[in-house]
Amino acid sequence: MSAPKIKAPRGTFDVLGEQAEARALLETRARSILEGAGYERIETPVFEATELFARGVGESTDIVRKEMFTLEDGAGRSLTLRPEGTAPVCRAYVEHGMHKRRQPVKLWYLSSFFRHERAQAGRYREFWQVGAEALGSEDPVVDAESILLLATLLSEMGVKGVRLRLSSLGGADSRAAYRERLQAYLHEHEESLSEDVRSRIDLNPLRAFDSEHAGTRRVMESAPRLLDHIGSEDAEHFAHVQELLSVANVAYEIDSTLVRGLDYYTRTVFEFTSDALGAQSGVGGGGRYDGLVQKLGGPPTPGMGWAAGVERILLAGDRQPAAVRAPELFVALADGARGQRRLAAFALLGAARSAGLRAQMELSGRSLKGQLGHAGALGARYAAIVENGETVLRDMQTGGQERIATDTVVHAVLRGLRDL
Ligand code: AMP
Repeated sequence: MSAPKIKAPRGTFDVLGEQAEARALLETRARSILEGAGYERIETPVFEATELFARGVGESTDIVRKEMFTLEDGAGRSLTLRPEGTAPVCRAYVEHGMHKRRQPVKLWYLSSFFRHERAQAGRYREFWQVGAEALGSEDPVVDAESILLLATLLSEMGVKGVRLRLSSLGGADSRAAYRERLQAYLHEHEESLSEDVRSRIDLNPLRAFDSEHAGTRRVMESAPRLLDHIGSEDAEHFAHVQELLSVANVAYEIDSTLVRGLDYYTRTVFEFTSDALGAQSGVGGGGRYDGLVQKLGGPPTPGMGWAAGVERILLAGDRQPAAVRAPELFVALADGARGQRRLAAFALLGAARSAGLRAQMELSGRSLKGQLGHAGALGARYAAIVENGETVLRDMQTGGQERIATDTVVHAVLRGLRDL
């Protein structure tokens, strides 16, 4: 009787072969684009104090209300698997006194995140994001450059049907005044709103713009828009961001209904979508969060950043991962009397790798014929059939072979590859 199988939890996935290659390619591209622009890699812990997200992301957000995986450590402290990356990066900025460095401090990450969401195509409970944060400058150039970097990454990954939506949420003052205006409007139309939106008029009225409920959508068409009520400095900042994006040839649409699901945003907000994705069309987005560092106990520090979903970039992208790299040398064992030959073959494998060759060795006790078939299936360029002091070196492309001293095999392979 076999033991019952255990499956990976709902909303999670394994990364296998080709996918691992595709993800590695994305990481290489992200590193080259972001480090080229002066961003340094940061990795924060998988779990943080729950308080960080409650305070940073906001008590009224869906993420904090419904989507966090929270656990307790032995001492009764509440910990949460990170649902997003900006609050942890700001926490690290404060904790390591990064405000004393030259500003802005620019950091990027590629990490896993956890949200207890309804799992479906493109939406998982553990997913990966590549993200970039610039802390310590409120210059609109930071906003435009940040958006441009994500646009570049999406384009290099061949993401199809990309659209960029852009808006400004203004500063904290105009947002508070607007919030009241919107609340009054929502109360006036309460009977047409969805249950969910109605229950959150006081808590988080802005989320009404995200609702898919038909009645709510109709009401929201004529709702007052935050973009029409932002202060003059915020409007000027936003105008600069738009000019800079135009100069950089980044196409965008102004969308005054764009509200992001997190409380910390101020001024610029943006989202990239792809037509190649289904219902979950967001590939990446972000914005400014000028009050967040201070909210987490740091000095007043402006910030701007984004995160993009790794799985969604790959779903919407057309970059084929390089085939898993074929060995240059496959070390096979001649049939019979294996003991000594195995030692000689293993030594040859080590020598080949030290010389920088991609080399593999027979690991499954196949017959010689089986081994050569396997080497062919792997796409090996050469196969070395080790006898004792001698080895038959076979060119897998031409089928030609020669018998040479085992200790000259590496040399012969290197020479053969160079002469190609
Ligand atoms: P957010 O932090 O919600 O702004 O998300 C930024 C990006 O991360 C989105 O545009 C998606 O590409 C990706 N993302 C967010 N949540 C999920 C999820 N549950 N599963 C897969 N990707 C996600």
